[in-house]
Amino acid sequence: MNHGDDMNHAFIEKIDALQLPRDTEKLAKLERYYEILVAENQKMNLTSITLKDEVYTKHFYDSLTLSRYLITQKESLLDVGSGAGFPALPLKIFFPELKVTMIDATRKKIDFLTRLTQELRLDDVRLIHGRVEDFLEREGFDLVVARAVARLNVLQELCLPFVRVNGKFLAMKAMQYAEELIQAANGTTTLGGRFVRADVYHVQEDLQHAVLVFEKLKPSPRMYPRSYAKIKNNPL
Ligand code: SAH
Repeated sequence: MNHGDDMNHAFIEKIDALQLPRDTEKLAKLERYYEILVAENQKMNLTSITLKDEVYTKHFYDSLTLSRYLITQKESLLDVGSGAGFPALPLKIFFPELKVTMIDATRKKIDFLTRLTQELRLDDVRLIHGRVEDFLEREGFDLVVARAVARLNVLQELCLPFVRVNGKFLAMKAMQYAEELIQAANGTTTLGGRFVRADVYHVQEDLQHAVLVFEKLKPSPRMYPRSYAKIKNNPL
């Protein structure tokens, strides 16, 4: 399953399973995304995954599994620590009306995303270089998502304050999430959130991931998020 057509076939089946359209233009954008990612990865460290079928499975498909949480498909979505664009950009490719904001503390990653979104002609993607704890749009997003950024007790303070009341925070996690959830439980309440459920899914046959779904019940107290040093040294 390493070469062109076979890989595409397996990926297309996954796309079908998510009930996403087999749209030639969207699939061509993913292909171009792959090419640019691998080319730029020679110059800077964007991803350790470079084999084509793995990029499609572990980056593109994994990101696209979040399509299950879209209702209007026009949601405002904040991707915290978006790195090389996951999970927000594959979603934006398939759902062009999403209002996507991506924030990353590393300038080079934001520069990469600027070039990439221009090349792929993805409109209204807002790219912000900075730390999310300095970001001002509290309670501003229908969905706040993050993958591979921090442990949950730290991550939720970086994400929940930016979810609007009745919106959702989606934390993409490996299967060892149970202990993280226990550690984070008090903080979730403090931040005005509620853990709803863990949705476990197969990324591929021998690999499972989970989406931890949180709901925002009431505004987060103004003092959160604190500075990163405080969050990290003394998590809620
Ligand atoms: N979400 C991507 C990237 C994960 S790497 C993926 O799953 O592939 C984590 C990224 O989070 C890094 O690019 C890092 O710069 C960024 N990051 C970590 N803490 C951050 C913070 N407090 N604010 C903004 N970005 C942060």
